[in-house]
Amino acid sequence: MLEFNHVTKRYGDGKPAVSHLNLKIEKGEFVCFIGPSGCGKTTTMKMVNRLIDITDGSILVDGKDIKEQNAVELRRSIGYVIQQIGLMPHMTIKENIVLVGTLLKWTKEQKDARARELLKLVDMPEDYLDRYPHELSGGQQQRIGVLRALAANPPLILMDEPFGALDPITRDSLQEEFKKLQKELDKTIVFVTHDMDEALKLADRVVIMRDGEVVQADTPDEIVRNPANEFVEEFLGKDRLIQGRPDVTTVGQIMASYPVTVQTGTTLRSAISTMRDRHVDSLLVVDADNVLKGFIDIEAINLNYKKADYVDAIMANNIFSVYQDSLLRDTVHKILRRGATYVPVVDERDKLAGIVTRATLANLVYDTIWGDGMELDGIAAAAE
Ligand code: ADP
Ligand code: MG
Repeated sequence: MLEFNHVTKRYGDGKPAVSHLNLKIEKGEFVCFIGPSGCGKTTTMKMVNRLIDITDGSILVDGKDIKEQNAVELRRSIGYVIQQIGLMPHMTIKENIVLVGTLLKWTKEQKDARARELLKLVDMPEDYLDRYPHELSGGQQQRIGVLRALAANPPLILMDEPFGALDPITRDSLQEEFKKLQKELDKTIVFVTHDMDEALKLADRVVIMRDGEVVQADTPDEIVRNPANEFVEEFLGKDRLIQGRPDVTTVGQIMASYPVTVQTGTTLRSAISTMRDRHVDSLLVVDADNVLKGFIDIEAINLNYKKADYVDAIMANNIFSVYQDSLLRDTVHKILRRGATYVPVVDERDKLAGIVTRATLANLVYDTIWGDGMELDGIAAAAE
């Protein structure tokens, strides 16, 4: 389906961004590229749809060298989803979904039918079709981004950190939804992430890159059992805290990076709508410099709605937080004992860096005690 033959990309005179990439991806396969920032993931994706020219080597899609195809036609025949959602703000959801259809000169009837059909796949009501992107939550917008990539029914879809900007809960549900969808629709997916959990959860095969080269390409199971070298081990350990590593793991390494926040000075009305849009029942309050100031939850709002206008007036400001550089082994029991669903993580200047959820900790403690390879869904769900 997709074949890389000694693919090399050099931007300037220096070290290649991608070097001698050799890989064969089968039809229907879900492949995740993962690696540190700058290792060449995005470059690899953009070479496939010819947003970037290859320096050396060749890429074949369905056995045909992409260089011999018209670049625009090629691009339209491959789905592409990126992190910065990229919906057109002045177009309705329907127009956004069938953008490629417009380029391909579909009739209005074809476009309407396709938009409705796609929206059904993600269980969103039809009246969303006439809304505008800003009326949707981040998670909903990213669903539309995925539908847009599916619109022309491309067999191959490239996704570059598509869920990277979403809060962890939304990300989780989108991952699951998407994995199901991929199986149903039998698409070939090349998916870039820097989140090992995401890669291990979604992929049939994980391709680990470093400095433009493939370090290991294997099934998630094989990677976890037999990491090719120390780099892979560290990469696994960093995000997953597999057995034997809790001693050196910091809070920052396991936290989720995109908590839902509001700024001081926000009205209660607007805080409520943020909660509703993001499907959360509490918000962290930060100032303009992202310094953590407090916390409000739906209960506090409910009790004080008539007495106060702004979040500042009712937020709890003696909020318990942990430093991102603290070692997990020193903090984990403190966090668990509090009984809160999550604990905010701050940097040395008290700026909000992320959150650690009870569910994550439950998983870690479990892994540490029992080793990995067993399911913890029950406990994680109970801890949520
Ligand atoms: P990743 O997506 O894995 O973070 P990229 O593919 O974006 O990595 O980048 C790989 C390397 O190529 C990096 O060293 C980056 O600085 C370099 N690079 C990316 N795009 C360009 C460009 N347009 N010009 C020059 N260098 C680039
Ligand atoms: Mg990138």
